[in-house]
Amino acid sequence: MKLSQSFTKPLRQAPNDADSANAAFLIQGGYLDQLAAGIYSFLPLGWRVYRKVEQIIREEMDAIGGQELSMPALHPAAPWKASGRWDDKDVQEVMYQFEDHSGKPYGLGWTHEEIIAAIGKQHIQSYKDLPSAVYQIQAKFRNEPRAKSGLLRGREFIMKDLYSFHRDEKDLDTFYDGMIEAYLKIYQRLGLDAWVVEASGGAFTEYSHEFQVFSDAGEDTVYYTDDRKFAQNEEIFEGKVGDKKGSQTVKAGKAIEVGNIFKLGTRFLEAAKVTYLDKDGKRQTPIMASYGIGPSRAMGTIVETSHDDKGIMWPEAVAPYQVHLLDIGKDNAIKKAAEKLYDELGKAGVEVLYDDRDDSAGVKFNDADLLGIPKRVTVSSKTLEKDSVELKQRDSDKTELIPLKDAVNKLSETR
Ligand code: ATP
Ligand code: MG
Repeated sequence: MKLSQSFTKPLRQAPNDADSANAAFLIQGGYLDQLAAGIYSFLPLGWRVYRKVEQIIREEMDAIGGQELSMPALHPAAPWKASGRWDDKDVQEVMYQFEDHSGKPYGLGWTHEEIIAAIGKQHIQSYKDLPSAVYQIQAKFRNEPRAKSGLLRGREFIMKDLYSFHRDEKDLDTFYDGMIEAYLKIYQRLGLDAWVVEASGGAFTEYSHEFQVFSDAGEDTVYYTDDRKFAQNEEIFEGKVGDKKGSQTVKAGKAIEVGNIFKLGTRFLEAAKVTYLDKDGKRQTPIMASYGIGPSRAMGTIVETSHDDKGIMWPEAVAPYQVHLLDIGKDNAIKKAAEKLYDELGKAGVEVLYDDRDDSAGVKFNDADLLGIPKRVTVSSKTLEKDSVELKQRDSDKTELIPLKDAVNKLSETR
């Protein structure tokens, strides 16, 4: 992509009401546009990053046997009334509920247990249909009273929610443990250091496991020991900082919840009257678990944990482009060399953003730092004197000269 032709250009200034690094850099960089508090458009650059995050999640959900589907965001009240959640005070705080023109009650999906249970009634009939696991990746709506911190807390945001169905607890426990591993793999691929944390179950169940990334931008407080054998959300932790756990000392830190998984038992399936015939021909209710992860919040978390005062530092796995090519100087030979390298890199399958605008070196370097693409490659009269280009990694101050003839090979390498 040539920046001169890109739908967005980096803005000259950060929005003055940005309350977090991810909101400031993603909006200024042209990754996001804010429509209202907690409601964002992903612009072409941001959508490239988002789709890479989503794809990593999809691959790991497929690998564990999840089957992807898509459920509606607009829900009639009936299934929610059947589970008792339509009239629940806590649920009403987060769920958008309204009436259509004929006065029928509807709501926007903030989670999908009720909807998948209604589908399960049609398709889970026999013990042979179990276990099974389905997931979707789509918009969720929550009437968050304090939508804030950019992608961290939206009112419309994206969630991957997977639902698994089992004959018995043992089978569920095995799958659930596998999901913990799958989640940790996702975060590792995203460049996030996530901790498994014990937490209360909120509107779902008594307890759950959260995945938390330590960051001052987080809203949760997590108590933990350095050996990672103990980690609990403050909502359920009874002790205090300084307590001993064996030889370890309890500490506390701010963290961002990037995932949450719940064992739900029969609650939603009983309400939806889902049953199956077991091997002895007896009717049983399957048991269920749900597994949420916020790809949009994860994208915001990557920025929170990977930036400096000038801008973002994307990990390669989710960077919108791998190379940020720029030319300095008006000389025709410079333009020609940069164009040629841009074409060759494209042919070699390297994702390149080429800043071909007629701007000063200062503007171009600042924008490169803001956008946070891992490799910056500069073509100037100085580099061409040596038949070279200059390479700089976003997260390092060192620059190196690479002979033009080696540039494509060198820039095709991942680190
Ligand atoms: P929180 O405690 O932060 O409000 P939650 O516990 O209500 O979140 P879950 O119902 O567990 O959230 O949702 C699963 C995942 O979806 C969360 O772990 C988070 O990654 C993401 N998520 C939840 N709410 C939001 C939101 N308002 N904006 C962006 N992502 C969210
Ligand atoms: Mg949660």
